[in-house]
Amino acid sequence: VGRVDWTRVREDFPLLRREVHGKPLVYLDSANTGQKPVAVIEAVDDFYRRHNANVSRAVHALGTEATESYEASRRALARFLNVRADELVLCSGTTFAINLVAYSWALPRLKAGDVILVSRMEHHANIVPWQLVAQRTGATIKVADITPEGTLDLDALWRAMTPEVKLLAVAHVSNVLGTVNPVREICREARKRGIATVVDGSQAAPHRPVDVAAIGCDFYAVTGHKMCGPTGTGALWARREHLQAMPPFIGGGEMIREVSFDGTVFNDPPHKFEAGTPNIAGFVGLGAAVDYLQGLGMAAIEAREIELLAHMTQALDAVGGVRIFGRAPEKAAVVSFLVEGAHAHDLATLLDLEGVAVRSGQHCAHPLLQFYGVAATCRASLAFYNTHEEIDAFIAALQKARGLLG
Ligand code: PMP
Repeated sequence: VGRVDWTRVREDFPLLRREVHGKPLVYLDSANTGQKPVAVIEAVDDFYRRHNANVSRAVHALGTEATESYEASRRALARFLNVRADELVLCSGTTFAINLVAYSWALPRLKAGDVILVSRMEHHANIVPWQLVAQRTGATIKVADITPEGTLDLDALWRAMTPEVKLLAVAHVSNVLGTVNPVREICREARKRGIATVVDGSQAAPHRPVDVAAIGCDFYAVTGHKMCGPTGTGALWARREHLQAMPPFIGGGEMIREVSFDGTVFNDPPHKFEAGTPNIAGFVGLGAAVDYLQGLGMAAIEAREIELLAHMTQALDAVGGVRIFGRAPEKAAVVSFLVEGAHAHDLATLLDLEGVAVRSGQHCAHPLLQFYGVAATCRASLAFYNTHEEIDAFIAALQKARGLLG
């Protein structure tokens, strides 16, 4: 009961039938961006063919349909994350979501002497906005360090939660190490000390059931393009009291109730933060993506990806001379690695010639790579639509590349 036929599921993704350099594509870059099922492609196509109009402005039928579809997607995403729809701000992705917290929540509140605590394994999107806030407020950034196996050093983290700390920024799942952080425990400890928490859910929401209410954070950010949805879609969930207290980040149409040259009355949250015409078709696609993921079941997706991860890790370990970064006991299907004697970019280039797409470089996480003392890694990241045969093809391509580079 409830078994998913993953071979059939793969057929939902037309792009995966492609060839690259005359070889069948093996797409191992889903942590960068995910591929899209037909249901999402058709939802976007159908919107532009039959329903296209702007939201919240027109009383005509198409305007009403567009507004209803856009709001239906907000409700679908809210259910998916187990939050209230009126606490979910739709935006272009995690980068925008975190910047919204930085500019509207942190900037007016923080002052010299305050501390922003950021984990060592953050993506630049969860580092740079805090540096901008620190520069403008005089607050300082403190780093929550990690162990060599790639988990947060929790004892050090508790010690770092001093009274000066006003905000803690942490990834739910690391995009480089795959580490699943114990965000529920972390947010509980932070809350006890009056520290606000920002959880970057970019790499969690596409791969495992996420219950934001249970996590107990103050802010949770997701990006749609990693969860089978279109690029330029994402959301910030924030507690209602924060959304009410926060000033708007961007001003313009849609986010107001009344405008005169004497002043402007803003719309209620979440609309107060959604100035201008949004990516309506994109959000229609994201709604379809959420329905698609829920149709498969997030628990089933998680189990499938953990099984693929075990296969890939074992196979890489068996190659010999492969260093894997990140061996957390609870880990998502992302494997960063280096092969002895081979530069990451050279390896990725040779893999590409065999049809295998992996990412090489710093994965928008310079401080993390500095910790490991390496300039770049290769990263093979999986999704439920990958197969065991693809992992074998990847290993064969890796052996061949190593022969050429050695
Ligand atoms: N945080 C993490 C952990 C990510 O993996 C990414 C995407 N690579 C981002 C933030 C940024 O997401 P986006 O570029 O979609 O805003």
